[in-house]
Order: sequence, then C-alpha cells, then structure tokens
Amino acid sequence: MVRTEKQTYEVVVVGGGTAGLSAALVLGRSRRSVLVVDAGEPRNAPAAHMQGYPSRDGMPPAEFLAEVRREVTGYGVELVRDRVTAAEPDASGEFDVAFAGGGRVHARRLVVATGLVDELPEIPGVAERWGKDVIHCPYCHGYEVRDEPIGVLYGSASGIHQALLFSQLSDDVTLFLHEADEDELPDADWQMLAAAGVSVVSGTVAGLVVEDDRLTGVRLTGGRVVARSVFVVPTRMVPRDSLLAALGARTKETPAGPFVDVDPTGLTSVPGVWAVGNAAGPAEQVVNAASAGYRAGVFINMDLLHTDLERAVEERRSGVFSPEGERAVARALAKTASA
Ligand SMILES: Cc1cc2nc3c(=O)[nH]c(=O)nc-3n(C[C@H](O)[C@H](O)[C@H](O)COP(=O)(O)OP(=O)(O)OC[C@H]3O[C@@H](n4cnc5c(N)ncnc54)[C@H](O)[C@@H]3O)c2cc1C
Repeated sequence: MVRTEKQTYEVVVVGGGTAGLSAALVLGRSRRSVLVVDAGEPRNAPAAHMQGYPSRDGMPPAEFLAEVRREVTGYGVELVRDRVTAAEPDASGEFDVAFAGGGRVHARRLVVATGLVDELPEIPGVAERWGKDVIHCPYCHGYEVRDEPIGVLYGSASGIHQALLFSQLSDDVTLFLHEADEDELPDADWQMLAAAGVSVVSGTVAGLVVEDDRLTGVRLTGGRVVARSVFVVPTRMVPRDSLLAALGARTKETPAGPFVDVDPTGLTSVPGVWAVGNAAGPAEQVVNAASAGYRAGVFINMDLLHTDLERAVEERRSGVFSPEGERAVARALAKTASA
C-alpha cells in the first residue's frame, strides 16, 4: 500500500488483533475509509491453538487473524504492517498519526486496539516455555491439560484462585509457595486447598526441567524436582497504552493495575478516541475483544454520520453550500438510503 503524506481516513485502527480487526470489519461494511496499522505481535502468538471462540475453537491464532484480515480487505479496509508512534490531536479535534516507518496520515476517529504485554515471573525456563506448557489461563488452555500433573506458582492471592480453578480440571494440582511463607496464607485458604485436593510445596522455585522439548518438572532451590508437565504462572498484565497516555486519556484502577477508562461503547475520555480489547481491559478473551471492537465500530459509524449530517444541516441553514457540505449531504443521504 502506498500512503501519501497526510492521506485522510475516516478511521485509523491502531492494532490489528481481534479487537482492531473486528472494529474494522463493521466500519468497512459501513463503507468507511479505514486504515488498520498493525505491528504484528498479538498476545496469544506463542499458543498453538485458540480456544473458546464459538465455531473457531482450536484454530491456530495466526490462521484466525489471517482469515479476519481477508474478510476486512474484502470491504476495502487497508492494512499496513507498521507501528504507530504518535497520534496527536489537531485544532479540529481530529488526529495526525505517525508511523515508525516514517509515514503520517490524518484520522477523523481513532481506535486504539494495541493489546497488552504479559510480564512473566523471572524464573529460568518460564519465558522459553510460555504459551506451551507454561500457561496462565484455565479457560484458554485448561481443558487441554486436563488430568495432567499441574503446578501453580503462588505470586499473590490470585495463585490460590488459580490452584482451585485448575483443581476442577485435574486431580493432581500442586501449589508452589515460592517466595511466600506458609504463615502468609490465611486458614480459610488452607481449608479450601485441602477441600479441593491441592497439595502445597514450600520453597523457592529455581527453574524448570525440560526434556525432549517438554516440561517434566519444577526444580526448587536445593535441587529437589517435583514432577509436573504443566506450570501455571501469574503474569503482570501491562496495557500498551502509551498513545492513550499521550492523548491524556483517563485511566481507572482494575485488579491488574490501571487501564484506560472507557464507556460501554469503548469511547475514552478523549473525544474521537475509542479503546477496545486488551488495551482497555485485562480480562478480555478473544471473543470479548471481537465484541468490543464490533460495538465500537458501530458507534464510530454513528458518530461520523451524525457529525457529517449536523454540519451539512448547519451549512444549509446558513446558506453556505460548500463543496464539502454538498458532498457530506450526498454521502449521508446515500448511506441512509442504502441502510
Ligand atoms: C499464551 C496465551 C494464550 C491465549 N489463549 C487464548 C485462547 O485460547 N482463547 C482466548 O479467548 N484468549 C486467549 N488468550 C487471550 C488473547 O490473547 C487476547 O484475548 C487477545 O489477544 C486480545 O485481542 P486484542 O486485539 O485486544 O490484542 P492483541 O491480540 O494482542 O492485538 C494487538 C495488536 O496490536 C499491535 N500493536 C500494539 N501496539 C501497536 C502500535 N503502536 N502500532 C501498531 N500496532 C500495535 C500488536 O502488535 C498486536 O498485533 C491467550 C493469551 C495468551 C497470553
């Protein structure tokens, strides 16, 4: 694709994962001019399979996104592999968008769908096995590891919750206290763990044992190895929100830390800027990200329609028939007629 200097799009979508592409799909089908800029690092890329998306359960994530890209380009959406480095509002409340590759475009509305980064515990072997046999989510990978010997790393109170959730999938779950003392766990937790049949191992986890490209054990300081084929770790979920922060978007506290504050349509506190998917919430699975993107797309289309119509009505009222005004009226009427 050739991007000319300051080419204008009705919508620029930053991030071409599920959330961004879903917004682009609705907007493309509404005949909006849409550019999706994607750096190509979706969160679930390390996983071989994507679970829990009705009709696509088990599909490789890369195949799923390739299919959605094919769908959106069918409606005229433009895709570019690049990274947006800045999105600055201009005097009219629209946006100048700059790319790492050097180009710039103008956007009337912005969708920030940049996802999040999972910061992993610094335990040797964890990063290498991430998304394979080191996992974090019972809903993403739990069924696939049912009945296996599962280890759960205690990093905070959520480790108890994870151990209890995984105990529903396997009778052989061990909670590794790692850097926590036994005394830190309240009696109620010990009782729940015992009731769920979860065993508890004290001592710092020093690393993972991997043989023939498979996790076989969790090694403690001192050398003891507990045989495990799956290791569940907590991650620190950090939104990729530097563009939103630079735009001054308000944040809100979540159990995972601050995330951008959005209304039910995904609109941020900055007029004209929507945020969807994991950029706007730590708990969004693929199906939720698709839903959030879709909803934002619908509301952006309405917002543009009303903005153009109100301007056109105002111009007619004041007797100003600029070529832009005529075009806006014609475009709005044509869209209404074909809706
Ligand atoms: C290992 C693992 C396995 C998972 N498995 C499942 C599963 O089985 N089922 C499920 O429902 N969920 C699963 N998830 C969760 C799933 O990854 C997220 O729900 C989903 O990726 C959220 O989609 P998104 O579009 O918000 O973000 P992403 O998919 O992360 O996409 C964001 C995109 O934006 C791009 N981007 C970021 N910044 C910029 C920028 N400045 N300019 C341009 N592009 C940018 C990124 O490169 C990326 O391509 C899993 C997560 C992990 C970590």
